[in-house]
Formats: sequence, C-alpha cells, structure tokens
Amino acid sequence: MLLSRLVTLAVLAVFVLPVHARAQTGHEPRVLVIGIDGVRVDMLARAETPTLDSLSGAGFFSDEAKTRVRTVSGPGWSSMLTGVRTDKHGVDSNNFSGNRYAEWPDFLTRVEAERPELGTFAVLDWPPLGTTDSGGPLISDGIDVKLNFDGETDGYGPADAESVEAAVEHLRTADVHAAFVYLGNPDVVSHETDSFSDEYRASIERADAQTAELLDALRARPGYDDEDWLILVSTDHGRNDAGGHGGQSPSETTIFFLAAGPAVSPGRTDCPPEIVDVAATALAHLGIVAPELDGQPRGLGPRGCAPE
Ligand SMILES: [Zn+2]
Repeated sequence: MLLSRLVTLAVLAVFVLPVHARAQTGHEPRVLVIGIDGVRVDMLARAETPTLDSLSGAGFFSDEAKTRVRTVSGPGWSSMLTGVRTDKHGVDSNNFSGNRYAEWPDFLTRVEAERPELGTFAVLDWPPLGTTDSGGPLISDGIDVKLNFDGETDGYGPADAESVEAAVEHLRTADVHAAFVYLGNPDVVSHETDSFSDEYRASIERADAQTAELLDALRARPGYDDEDWLILVSTDHGRNDAGGHGGQSPSETTIFFLAAGPAVSPGRTDCPPEIVDVAATALAHLGIVAPELDGQPRGLGPRGCAPE
C-alpha cells in the first residue's frame, strides 16, 4: 500500500485538503473508527489499497503499532475499543464472560455517559461484539444505534457487505458523532487459506473499497462542510505464516494504526502506537479526557514520544 502513496495524493486532496482550512474555524468534531479483523501489515503493504493509501499519505500512519495483549480477537477488540488492556477489561480469549466492561466500557458507551447529546453508532457482524453471544456484548446496548449482522451464520463476506450498506445509509443521514464499523472477512479468509494467499490479499482490497464507501457516505452528509471528521483505521492482531494467530511473534503482535482528517498532524512516528490508543484518540477528538485509560491520543498533536 505504501508504494502508491504519491500517486494517490490527488485522491486524498479531495477528501482531506478542502476541509483542512475549515477545521481551524471550530467545526464540530466527529469520529469514525473502522476495524478490520486480522490484517497482517506486510500483506496490507502488498495489497492494492488506494483508499487507505490516501488516508495514510495525508495522515498519521504506523505499520509498527503493537497489541501488547494476546493476539486473539476477543482481547484485541476489547483493548482497541475500551482503551485499556486485559488486566483491566478482563477479556483474554474469545470467551467474553469475565469482562469488566461495566467499569471499562467501549468508547461509544463512554461518549454516551459523558456527552449523551452526541449521536453514537456501531455496526457489527462478529456476534460477541454486539450481542450476548459468548458473554458479550463488547459494545453495550447503551449507545444510540447498534446494528448487528451475523457473519457466523451468513459468512463474513456477505455480512460485511450488509454491514457497510447499513453503515452507509446511517452515516449519510443520521446525526452521528462517533461511529464504529467492523469488517471481519479478512481474518476468516486468512484462516481458510494462509497469510500470503491471493484470497487474503483480495479480502484486504475489498475492505479498502468498503472504506471508500464509508468515506463517500460521510462526504454526502448534508452538514459535512461544518463537521470535522477524524477517521481511525486499525486491526486487532496480525497473523503467523500459516494464517493463524494467538502467539507473540512479531507478525502476530504488529498492527497498523491510521488516523486521518483535518485534526491530524501528518507524518510517521518513531514511537509506535499501541492498540489501546485507538479509543483514547477517538475520545480526545471529541474533547473527552480519560487519563485513566492505558491508551493515549496519537496523531492529534506534536510528533514527540510520550513518556512511558
Ligand atoms: Zn481477530
């Protein structure tokens, strides 16, 4: 994905540059988090991903970000969306029943608690993320709109397509300030093939095209010119060469972190972000300070490394 970055500068200009000047004048912060399950960073680099290239070229991007929790989806998504690690949220496997989300909620539920006037939205097709399946939900019923599809029953390719169609409809029209869209298919495809298959690469390219659909939906919003959208994109874990994950090898623990939008300070970083930084960054953009989180805002301020 990195090779074509320069080529796509013209594309990103359409999305980022026109709003940049307006962002100085107090436009309303909004955030969309797109989570793509199980993307290995070297395969992201090999895939044709013009939309993610556009965002990262103009934004803050690291392909050396780290999970620092078990490289399993349950702890990964729990950490990304709550902003704290397993010792706090309590999820160390895909059994969510011991979770402490009441104390350490997902970022959308936290938005509802602190600023209930803001619109919150999630669309999910891995059942534990949004339903009581396996001890979930990770994202509580306290948010304004939560749409659940079922990748386990319908297959993640079709379910992701349903998710994106529903998200596009909502993001175009509703008064949403904070949103999360989950795409599960790349993880499943890699499990079924391996980490270097054409099918896996194609599934990442599909997720890139779906990201483009979501960005188009934002641009179509009637109030878009008065809004300051932060786009965050990340993944819950990498994978080993066989397509599995769960260990602590670098290819499993390394993830990408992408932040784009008028509020972002562009560039790469010498201090790699961590998965828990996603929630902290989303909240910070909305003006919600949460120093109790393990994560910290990344990409919104100076490039310097924060003290450990
Ligand atoms: Zn996963």
